[in-house]
Amino acid sequence: TRTSIASINPYNNEVLREFPTMIDEEVERAVAAAHEAFRGWRDLTPDERAIVVRRAGELMLERRDEFARTVTCEMGKLIGESQGEVDLSADILRYYGEVGPALLVDQPIPVEDGAAVVANRPLGVLLGVMPWNYPLYQVVRFAGPNLVAGNTILLKHASNCPQSALALERLFRDAGAPEGVYTNLFVRGSRVGRIIDNPLVQGVSLTGSDRAGASVAEKAGRNIDKTVLELGGSDPFIVLDGEDFDRTIDAAAVGRLSNMGQSCVSAKRMIVVSDIYYDFVDRLRHRFAALTPGDPMDPATTLGPLSSEQAAENLVSQIQDTVAQGATLVLGGKRIDRPGAFVEATILTDVRPGMRAYHEELFGPAAVVYQVADEDEAVALANDNPYGLGGVVMCRDLVRARRVAERLDTGMVWINHPTSSSPELPFGGIKCSGYGRELGDLGIQEFVNKKLIRTF
Ligand code: NDP
Repeated sequence: TRTSIASINPYNNEVLREFPTMIDEEVERAVAAAHEAFRGWRDLTPDERAIVVRRAGELMLERRDEFARTVTCEMGKLIGESQGEVDLSADILRYYGEVGPALLVDQPIPVEDGAAVVANRPLGVLLGVMPWNYPLYQVVRFAGPNLVAGNTILLKHASNCPQSALALERLFRDAGAPEGVYTNLFVRGSRVGRIIDNPLVQGVSLTGSDRAGASVAEKAGRNIDKTVLELGGSDPFIVLDGEDFDRTIDAAAVGRLSNMGQSCVSAKRMIVVSDIYYDFVDRLRHRFAALTPGDPMDPATTLGPLSSEQAAENLVSQIQDTVAQGATLVLGGKRIDRPGAFVEATILTDVRPGMRAYHEELFGPAAVVYQVADEDEAVALANDNPYGLGGVVMCRDLVRARRVAERLDTGMVWINHPTSSSPELPFGGIKCSGYGRELGDLGIQEFVNKKLIRTF
């Protein structure tokens, strides 16, 4: 049965467009077409496929304004950040378009007699299940490398960004991807399991919540399909000294507030040593209090809406429950009295084990600041968490910073900089944050057949 997927502007809750979901037969046809397309696509050289990916990057920049406006309308991101996302996404496509083929060359293995090589060959049809927080970036960092590798893509985007999903499908088609090589599927998350059950699907990559990740991995496991999971995070942001305090406060504010805090690698838990703790909280409070709520299309706005009404409600209930459990509310904590999915910039302190904000990911502009005695306590607190995605260490002494970085149970650590993403740097986590890596060299190696050819 058909339902509909709506594009709703979270700034004013206006329904922008609605699209019918696909019925099972249509999805099956799309999977079959992607499989059919794989036969031709795999026979091209990586260089030939890379031309399409490079062209997609160029076209994305030509359509920069249109892409940015679509993203801002659908999920409320500040327009300047949407433009930044377009630029980064185009950069990722350019990167794989340029260096992708070189990352796929055969690897010879020295043997006593004859020859041995490991060739990187595509697997076939891949399903991407992607979230709304970076509607373009999340898709291209999966599709870009995998198209160069020779796989074909079915993309199930989040149900609240259908216009971005269509714009991406159009992009790859206009860049020259043959029919069936990149296909958008309008289906809900609850239908994904059935797609994975289709034997033509060879792998699944999901970015999103750990709940969705576990459900996809379970299905994929039954079907012996390879998966890559990039799930939530509750990244520590550790401050070890009061040197360059302006830089530290800037990094904390950017780390927590960019994308309105709706990033897997946001600085969600600020862990500060005692002698500078009160100063840190005070300076951060000033920064958060100075934000101006408004229309995310207006470049002067610094506090935009969250992605949806439900996201705003969830965040406020997490904050309020935590306060009811005994935490201190330093700033914010409520919805802003205006239409749209707005939540005040919030700071919580005195958060302890057992409280919601201690264990859960806060996906919005809400910082939790913890006070610790020293480096050991900082590391212990940072690691006392189900997630293990990224982390930040702020400390002028780079030997000490590196020592602390080594002790964090995460997939990534940044020293003296908020977490960020760049085409050549592998991105991913451990523990409940998932497994596998995207971007860089590693990102193009996940869904390839490492095929040994031994010659005598
Ligand atoms: P979800 O994980 O529910 O959504 C991400 C994607 O997974 C969407 O395409 C969604 O489809 C799909 N999906 C949802 N449930 C299933 C399922 N059972 N099987 C297969 N696919 C599924 O994230 P939400 O948007 O609900 O956000 C909830 C929380 O997840 C956030 O508050 C945050 O903590 C975390 N999150 C983390 C992200 C990250 O970057 N790591 C990104 C987004 C969310 P559909 O939209 O149709 O439900």
